[in-house]
Amino acid sequence: MPVGTQATVKGLTQEALEELGTGIILANTYHLYLRPGHELVRELGGLHKFMSWPRAILTDSGGYQVFSLSELRKMTDEGVRFRSHLDGSEHLLTPEKAAEIQIALGSDITMVLDECIETPAPREKAEAALNRTTAWAKRARNHFLQQSSGNSNLPQWQFGIVQGATFADLRRQSARQLLELDFPGYAVGGLAVGEPHEVTCEMAGEVTALLPKDRPRYLMGVGRPEQLADYVALGIDMMDCVLPTRAARHACLYTSEGRVLIKNARYARDQRPIDPRCACSVCRRYSRAYLRHLFAAGELTAAILASHHNVHFYLDIMRQIREAIEFGNLANFSSDMHARYTAGPA
Ligand SMILES: [Zn+2]
Repeated sequence: MPVGTQATVKGLTQEALEELGTGIILANTYHLYLRPGHELVRELGGLHKFMSWPRAILTDSGGYQVFSLSELRKMTDEGVRFRSHLDGSEHLLTPEKAAEIQIALGSDITMVLDECIETPAPREKAEAALNRTTAWAKRARNHFLQQSSGNSNLPQWQFGIVQGATFADLRRQSARQLLELDFPGYAVGGLAVGEPHEVTCEMAGEVTALLPKDRPRYLMGVGRPEQLADYVALGIDMMDCVLPTRAARHACLYTSEGRVLIKNARYARDQRPIDPRCACSVCRRYSRAYLRHLFAAGELTAAILASHHNVHFYLDIMRQIREAIEFGNLANFSSDMHARYTAGPA
């Protein structure tokens, strides 16, 4: 899922996202709640209509941004009190409020509010956050079911989020507790926040082993191109990451041969496309030399073209992963990607 923080994927229009074959995007509840406000979005017909995006939208709970962006956070069992990073206004985000905001936005998949903690975390802290996350998930589930019963306008789903930091038994405990709430899908949160890739995989594997096979499993906030197949191999179905668009704005292009840092002088006369094996509209039309010039000149088009290519590359990895699964060679695909990303571009 490309990330569309402010109801827009940075550098890409909805037309471009459709052309790229994007089926679902992620939008951030925290940002849309503060600006333009969920009631305004509701008034204008919901997020799909507001941003003219007919395909699926997943919204996060806002919790992660409260923890990472806002000031004066005060956690209680009731919720989290914070000051807006925009104007300093004070707000209280509760599990019920997070569900309500997402119901107003009208996203297809909504996430429960969870307690995010800094890692590495001591065990006691991770366990306390896990217990609070479960208690909040119960409240969010009840509130969501109450609100959505009898409202058949636009069916929305609500996913639970497994926490437990880097403790395998806490991860299992969190998963078991959430399973009792019978969510239509489950996310694994609080990973890929600085721990080694092997640990991310180990924790994700502990959780997916317990989750029902017929419900989507979503690993939040990952990952690098060469890591995607590893997560899929563990039973992960959904991922979101700002990396393809953020890296694009910083002139970092992902290709089948590794990363291309397009500002590098070696590309000044390079007439090849960003990735000779890429079928995206940017690679079919423009050269590395031109892209490099646009970045050097600080032109907006540089970020637009780079974002287009990178999102295409990520979506194409997912298409290749599906194909590899069908042909039974996901493990080969994965080791091949790791090799190319270790070796770097030719
Ligand atoms: Zn391309």
